[in-house]
Amino acid sequence: MPAVPYLPLARITALHEKSLIEATTRVVRSGRYLLGPELAAFEHDYARFIGTEQCIGCGNGLDALTLILRAYRELGVLHTGDEVLVSAHTFVATFLAITENGLTPIPVEPRLDTLQLDGTQLDRHVTPRTRALLLVHLYGKCAFTPEIENFCQRHHLLLIEDNAQAHGLRAADGRRTGSLGDAAGHSFYPGKNLGAMGDGGAVTTNHPDLARMVRSLANYGSEEKYVFSRTGRNSRLDEMQAAILAAKLPALDADNARRQAVARRYMEEIRNPAIRVPDASLWSGAVFHIFPVLSPCRGELQAHFAQAGIGTLIHYPIAPHRQACYPRLNALPLPLTEQIAREELSLPCHPAMTDEETNSVIETANSFKATAPLRSGAQISQSGG
Ligand SMILES: *Cc1c(COP(=O)(O)O)cnc(C)c1O
Repeated sequence: MPAVPYLPLARITALHEKSLIEATTRVVRSGRYLLGPELAAFEHDYARFIGTEQCIGCGNGLDALTLILRAYRELGVLHTGDEVLVSAHTFVATFLAITENGLTPIPVEPRLDTLQLDGTQLDRHVTPRTRALLLVHLYGKCAFTPEIENFCQRHHLLLIEDNAQAHGLRAADGRRTGSLGDAAGHSFYPGKNLGAMGDGGAVTTNHPDLARMVRSLANYGSEEKYVFSRTGRNSRLDEMQAAILAAKLPALDADNARRQAVARRYMEEIRNPAIRVPDASLWSGAVFHIFPVLSPCRGELQAHFAQAGIGTLIHYPIAPHRQACYPRLNALPLPLTEQIAREELSLPCHPAMTDEETNSVIETANSFKATAPLRSGAQISQSGG
C-alpha cells in the first residue's frame, strides 16, 4: 500500500502549475507588487464568486476577522466589553479577533453530529451586552441555519462568518458562505481550500460603510494619502498572492468536488465501531477542508494510521477556552467542545488524492482494532446505518 501524506502541497499546486507560472511571471515582469491591478482583479472576482458587493484583500485570515470587528468599533456599533457569541469549537484565531478588540467571547457548544455551533444553545447565552455572533464554518461544513438567522434577527445581532475553511461552500438555499451575514473573514493560508503561496486574507460584505472602514484600517487608518483619521495597521494582500489566488479561483469548485468525492467514499466505506465518521446525510454539501472522524481511542488510531504510512492531524487538540492565553475562560463547562478536542482525528482529504490512496485510508481505518476497551460513557454510534 502507498504511503499517504496528509497534505502534499507540492502535488496540489502541480494541479494548477501552468496558470500559476503564467500569473507569477506576469507579476515579476510588471514592476508592481502592492495595491495594483492583480489585487483589484482578484477582489472583483472573489466578490462575484462569493456573491457580495465588496471584497477587501488583507494580510491573513486573523487580520480579516480582526479588521471587521475593529471597523464595527470605529463605526460605533461595537464597544469595549460587548459580548460576541462564538463557535466554541474552532481554531484559536477566531477568538483572538474578538479579544484583540476588547470584546468578550461567549463560546457556544457544537453538536456532535455536525461539529458546528448548536443553534439551540444560543438563547441561554444572550445578555443585554450581546451584540454579535461570530459563526465558523469549521472543516468546510456549513454552520448557518434558518434558526441561527432568526436568532440574530430577533436579538438584532451582527452575524459575522469565519469562512477560513469554507471557500466555495454553499448554504442550503444555494448562497455561498461568506455572503450570508453582515461580513465574513477569509484566510488564504496555503493549506486552505483556496490557498496562496504565503499569507493572504479577505473581507467580504454588502455594507459599503463597513467596506470603506476596513479598507482604511488596513491602510494605516488612511483614506487620503498622508492623512490619518484613525490608528490603523498595515494589512495587504500583495500582487503576487492576488495573482496566484485569481489563477486558482476558477478551479476551486472542481477542486472542492474532488475533496467531496474522497469524503463520500470515506463516509460510505469506513465501517468501524471505534470510528465515528460524518453522516453523509448531514455532510453531503460540505467542501471538506478537513475530513474529521471521532474516536474515543484517538491516540491508538493515529498510531495505527502512522504504522501504515498514512499521515493524520488533530484539529484541534486544545479548545480555545482551555488555552493558557485565556485563563478566564478555562473553567467554562463546554463538555462537547472538550470531547471533540479529545477525540477528533483528521484523515487525508485533498484534490490531488488518488483512488489508491483513498483505498489505503479506508482499508487501514477498517482494520483498526482498539486494544484498550472503549471508555465507558464515550460509546459512539456508527453513522450512516
Ligand atoms: C486558518 C484559520 C484562521 C486564520 O487564518 P490565518 O490566515 O492563518 O490568519 C481563522 N479561523 C479559522 C477557522 C481558520 O481555520
